[in-house]
Amino acid sequence: MSSELEEAAVDEARQLAADADRVIVKAGTNSLTDDESNLDIEKLDKLVDDLEDLLSRDKEVILVSSGAVGAGTGRIEPSSGTVEESQALSTVGQSLLMHRYTESFDRYDRKVAQLLLTQHDLENPERFTNLRNTIETLLDWGVVPIINENDAVATEEIRIGDNDMLSSAAAIGVDADLLVTLTDVGGVYTGNPKEDDDAERIEAVGANYDQVQDIISETTSEGFGGIQTKVEGARDVSEHGIPAVIAKSTEPDVLEQIATAKPVGTIFVPINGVSDD
Ligand code: GLU
Repeated sequence: MSSELEEAAVDEARQLAADADRVIVKAGTNSLTDDESNLDIEKLDKLVDDLEDLLSRDKEVILVSSGAVGAGTGRIEPSSGTVEESQALSTVGQSLLMHRYTESFDRYDRKVAQLLLTQHDLENPERFTNLRNTIETLLDWGVVPIINENDAVATEEIRIGDNDMLSSAAAIGVDADLLVTLTDVGGVYTGNPKEDDDAERIEAVGANYDQVQDIISETTSEGFGGIQTKVEGARDVSEHGIPAVIAKSTEPDVLEQIATAKPVGTIFVPINGVSDD
């Protein structure tokens, strides 16, 4: 993204992201748990502090939070690693997660709500309308909706797959103005930043999407929940005219930086005539 027009489009996208009234923030398991898979209260409080930066600006915030299976694993120490075990672990972890979110948001006198979804709920128009209405009511009340996949009942046929897809579907479905995906890398890189010191952060994705896809397929082998699904989710929302940012959850004041149009992470420029494809 080097030409003047493209730089202008990136600046414009950053401003759009900063001005967003309704924001979906997705936090991954590694943004919430430690190396032993215990729920990490410091990380969770940091996330809530960052969300408060948006809420105190009178933005509506919807959180898509992973971490249920992770938090359950730290508590139960499972033995077999079967799908059935993961499903059961999610139920242990989910209630712990919500307990901690409730406590953490209490620090700011804010209330939270839990929504557990499956693919059916996103595909069936009636269920989706009900979901939308519930979310609108919660937002009217000033309550922060916290969404996760309903892992306990999600079989192969009704699995959303991962929360990257869930958050982009939610962003499009509730007419969000911005999707932020928080993860353990600082955005999209020219290589795998965990293995390659020379990997550079790609500041913006727009017309260069195909090139970025090529880089990702060459440099990452991870499938489910890796950078690939985050990039696909961000691209999906940008194709609906919604800017998206992939950024590092440990970055200080990460959401405040986005809300003030700072160049943090990788921004996906909405496809409204700015793309060359
Ligand atoms: N629903 C899963 C959990 O809460 C996470 C899925 C994902 O990270 O994409 O553990």
